[in-house]
Amino acid sequence: MKTVNIAIDGPGGAGKSSISKAVAAELGYIHVDTGAMYRAIGLYALRNHCSEPEQIAEHVKEADISLKFIGGVQRVLLCGEDVTDYIRSPEVTMTASKVSAVPEVRAHLLDLQKKIAAENNIIMDGRDIGTVVLPHADLKIFLTASPEERASRRYLELREKPDCPDYDQILKEIQKRDYDDMHRDIAPLCQAEDAVLVDTSEMGFHEVTEFILDLIRKKLE
Ligand code: C5P
Repeated sequence: MKTVNIAIDGPGGAGKSSISKAVAAELGYIHVDTGAMYRAIGLYALRNHCSEPEQIAEHVKEADISLKFIGGVQRVLLCGEDVTDYIRSPEVTMTASKVSAVPEVRAHLLDLQKKIAAENNIIMDGRDIGTVVLPHADLKIFLTASPEERASRRYLELREKPDCPDYDQILKEIQKRDYDDMHRDIAPLCQAEDAVLVDTSEMGFHEVTEFILDLIRKKLE
């Protein structure tokens, strides 16, 4: 049976995961957050003190990544341990970006990503889904927003928490991650030629969700 594959790419903080989750729930599809897989490998590298690309390349095969879905919601397992709640710290975020530039890491995750897409109706979000992982996706979306808008959304999310970084620091980290993700040699972040660009700088969450649902329904008619 042919499965439905929707690819959503874009920079960090554009709302890919929350939008993908809402769209997937509405359609009864699975939401696959590929960033969480890179984050789990980032956590593995931190825990095992692998800081150089050569070390990461040598040991990545030991980082057994698998996913499970509870009511359509993804949990990521690292060597059988559910690490979903440990992969959102700033340290893991920056390490995920670093490990994602290592070709062996990308190769390690590609088969798993393709297999999940072949077996399920999915909304898969990441940086290279439309360009590398699912070049024949039924629909590709490039979801973005200005760095300033993304930084201010992040700041609003974090400001009640202890040790909340200030806005300028958040903006700097977003700009650095954008630069690194867009300029790496392998599978850099870029809009696929046949992707629909959705700039959410001036759009609310429900507006974006409805807009994407509409695109998908029209495509599948
Ligand atoms: O999407 P998220 O912010 O969780 O991704 C964490 C990091 O993983 C990104 O900064 C990016 O470097 C990397 N990533 C990637 N390819 C993907 C998904 C994420 O390189 N498909």
